[in-house]
Amino acid sequence: MLEWLKSYVRKAPTPFVAGAEFIYRLIPPKLRYGKGFRDALHLLEQSEHWNHRELTAYQEKKLEPLIHHCFANVPYYRRLFDERGLKPQDFQSSEDLKKLPYLTKRIITRERNNLIARNMGSWRRDPAHTSGSTGSPFDFYVDDATLSMDRALALRHMFWLGYRKSDSVARFRVFRFSNPNKLLEYDRVGRELRLTLDRGDERELAQTADALNSFKPDFISAWPSCLYVLARWLKTNRRKIHSPRYIITSSENLYPHMRETIEVAIGAPVIDWYGQEESVAVAMQCAEARGYHIQMEAGYVELVPRHGGYFEIVGTNLHNFVMPFLRYRTGDLVTGSFGTCTCGRQHPTLSGIIGRESDLIVTPGNTVVSSLGLNFVFHHLDEVKESQIVQESLNSLHIKVVPWNKLGTHTLKTLEKRVREHMQWDAMDIRVEQVDHIPRNAGGKRPFFLSHVQLHDSAVMQVIPTASGQQN
Ligand SMILES: [Zn+2]
Repeated sequence: MLEWLKSYVRKAPTPFVAGAEFIYRLIPPKLRYGKGFRDALHLLEQSEHWNHRELTAYQEKKLEPLIHHCFANVPYYRRLFDERGLKPQDFQSSEDLKKLPYLTKRIITRERNNLIARNMGSWRRDPAHTSGSTGSPFDFYVDDATLSMDRALALRHMFWLGYRKSDSVARFRVFRFSNPNKLLEYDRVGRELRLTLDRGDERELAQTADALNSFKPDFISAWPSCLYVLARWLKTNRRKIHSPRYIITSSENLYPHMRETIEVAIGAPVIDWYGQEESVAVAMQCAEARGYHIQMEAGYVELVPRHGGYFEIVGTNLHNFVMPFLRYRTGDLVTGSFGTCTCGRQHPTLSGIIGRESDLIVTPGNTVVSSLGLNFVFHHLDEVKESQIVQESLNSLHIKVVPWNKLGTHTLKTLEKRVREHMQWDAMDIRVEQVDHIPRNAGGKRPFFLSHVQLHDSAVMQVIPTASGQQN
């Protein structure tokens, strides 16, 4: 959609936006999203069966025009090429991308205008934004090809899980309904129930459970933090809801304790999706629910060794010509190298996605500990509704806890003791506080761990065994 039209619609009164969205959704996806989407979906239907060599050949075929375009039309890359004496013909394979330095969030903020292609009109730019769960938030542009590929990947992922057109989906997001007091909305055309769980209070949760029981979705798609609150409420209140065939989670870290609680309470397997607004590296679990298949059709992914045994995910989007991101450092870490999957798909897998570098706790001794390891401290503490751990400084951890009713002194002490034992740093100030509400960040998400501490490259990974182990 044209940029000016989109921003006009965004600023319009809510009832108008809701009405426009309703009409927009009446159009079937293949028509609504246009030829770019249909082409991307067609490609993905073919590439589904490609072997690794064919997938690599596709990436290199996409990289060649992208490199020429960056050299000819994107000032930031032209300068890099010139400084290094490089020409487009020096890039014969995806490995040659290593001749270019990494693109960081800081560089994007500084060079934003120089990263925009000069030969593409503003009407081809779709504004995008990172919420800045790590580093500073920034604005950038994507084009129709990128959006089409992302949408087609989402649909193919549903097909992997046996989705049929007649299936219904319950989708949890922060929706903007025409009535701000409304928690949910039925989209009869798309066979979709859209829900917003904001405060997660008794009224919202009971209404959500009733709606899911009445709608009986085949799939639930949600941010983990939303479903986790619902799952804990179901468990505490001994409520049962209709079990969908699959639960698809995305956009936030899925901690092992969340997966386990959600699967038990809702009675369906959780299938997770990894990606970022910048769309340079997309990976998703198949029905085997193990490693995350890298979507090689969307981006070229490198794993760069970082702290201890961790690797950082670095990605190159193969489709975004309006503002190309080559070798973009996502800040997301994995514990393992590329792997394979028993499902037979040739898309390599990522394992042990532990989230962002900012999900690492830095100790006073300049060692780092994954915040994933802290998930177990809330095990079997049924008084806890929501929680968040904030590292305020090198020496202090702040544990915020929202109880269903009130936290007993014993629970507060148990929490503090478990965190202290896990961290193994007596000097750390660990403060457990009961709060009424944990606010969402600018992107509408509610991360389990937040850090205000800068991680230095010299930090050493400290391996601490956990009760529940690493993710995957
Ligand atoms: Zn698989």
